[in-house]
Amino acid sequence: MLIELPEHEIVRSARRRRISLEVRHDRRVILRLPSHISDEEGQRFLASRVDWVLRSQNEMLSREHGRLPVHMEQGGSMPWLGRDCTVELQPGIEPMVTEDSVMLLPAPTNASPEMQQHCIRLGIDRLIDREAMPFIGARLRELSERTGLQGTTLVLKDYRSRWGSCSNTGTITLNRRLMLCRPEVVDYVIVHELCHLRHLNHGKRFWQLVEKHCPSWRRQRDWLKVNATLLEF
Ligand SMILES: [Zn+2]
Repeated sequence: MLIELPEHEIVRSARRRRISLEVRHDRRVILRLPSHISDEEGQRFLASRVDWVLRSQNEMLSREHGRLPVHMEQGGSMPWLGRDCTVELQPGIEPMVTEDSVMLLPAPTNASPEMQQHCIRLGIDRLIDREAMPFIGARLRELSERTGLQGTTLVLKDYRSRWGSCSNTGTITLNRRLMLCRPEVVDYVIVHELCHLRHLNHGKRFWQLVEKHCPSWRRQRDWLKVNATLLEF
């Protein structure tokens, strides 16, 4: 598999003896090469350290954007469409998010921490079951209208590794956990997949189309990187 190299600048110096790699605070990647090392050789070095580069960039992003708090316990916090909700566990209650951002979820009284986590997972799952299709479906309809890009079918799935996909038959598949993201992020993911109806790749023209319909796409994409843990719990 080809590794996609992160964007980087190559800086050469005659005095330098070894290759070095730096991730700046603005996330720029600087590859410093001695004069006798070719670009290709330098880029192979970069390829072997891609994981480290992405990890460093993600740490910087986290500091910039602030990761959403997820604390799965009574009185803890869970995100819901951009709101930082307080978790409240009550026996026998129907899962819901109140207007003042309380996430009510059913759990037995005096549940152990493990039991609380289990109930929170189940409760959120039911909440998503009920609310994801109406919410995401409505966003898809509006954004299809606004962009003029129309898929054939919407499928919601519980992906663990991605937020959405688009098939060559026009089926848009979106991650139901988008309900835990900010609404702007949901819109970006939908626009991203809609743009794949026109370009089934991540080429320049694809990103130009995304930019046209979602000018803030970089910010939303970065937010997803920082909050990738929302795919995991
Ligand atoms: Zn894509």
